[in-house]
Amino acid sequence: MATLEIRDLHVTVDTEHGPKEILKGVDLTIAGGQTHAIMGPNGSGKSTLAYSIAGHPKYTVTGGSVTLDGVDVLSMSVDERARAGLFLAMQYPVEVPGVSVSNFLRTAKTAIDGEAPKLRTWVKEVNASMQRMHMDTDMAQRSVNEGFSGGEKKRHEIVQLELLDPKVAVLDETDSGLDIDALKIVSEGVNRFRERGDRGVLLITHYTRILRYIKPDFVHVFVDGRIAEEGGPELADRLEAEGYDRFTNAAV
Ligand code: ADP
Ligand code: MG
Ligand code: MG
Repeated sequence: MATLEIRDLHVTVDTEHGPKEILKGVDLTIAGGQTHAIMGPNGSGKSTLAYSIAGHPKYTVTGGSVTLDGVDVLSMSVDERARAGLFLAMQYPVEVPGVSVSNFLRTAKTAIDGEAPKLRTWVKEVNASMQRMHMDTDMAQRSVNEGFSGGEKKRHEIVQLELLDPKVAVLDETDSGLDIDALKIVSEGVNRFRERGDRGVLLITHYTRILRYIKPDFVHVFVDGRIAEEGGPELADRLEAEGYDRFTNAAV
């Protein structure tokens, strides 16, 4: 069972005025089989946490540690992190012109497994996954995310999640921009992934809406670069009723 451990993580981002501290000491442990929700106001550093776990070059870790089963993640390249079993679904998925969804998924799978999946079974798996996400299988031949609607991008992220089957998935605002039907389809995809058993999920969201469909085991309120409060699913209900004001005022 995989455990992702984040200890006293400090991260700066490179801005035109120099480095700016965004994460100010984050502690979080996600064990296999657990779903953690991070909720917080805009600009609190949620995406920065996701990018730091994934190894985005714009973010510099200035203190603390991130380990997967005790192995240092921060010294790994982005590819090594993926091979180790980490997956990041980005808030704003990037377009990859000229690379089809089909080739993109196969290349990623090959990189992670160390060998190419058998073509015939692979095509079947991709099609089946796309159908589960209510996507037209013709989309497999289109360039990754190019001209995709917001909802299609998020569905494609879940197809990646299903096929790459990481140990720990970080999902950054996978709910944003989804209408209610798409939100249900995406949530069902995440829940199917959870049902595989020992997978860890870090669900980052601004709104409580998705938590009606994906029940987290733990909820963390993220304010100004750190976790301000933690609890069970009931904390999400309180946030829905009270908003973030109580936390943001306290932080001033
Ligand atoms: P959230 O995801 O919670 O909305 P972010 O992690 O996106 O928060 O941003 C946290 C803070 O860091 C914000 O003040 C944002 O402006 C700043 N920030 C994040 N990334 C960058 C960047 N690449 N360049 C400059 N500032 C950034
Ligand atoms: Mg934001
Ligand atoms: Mg964000």
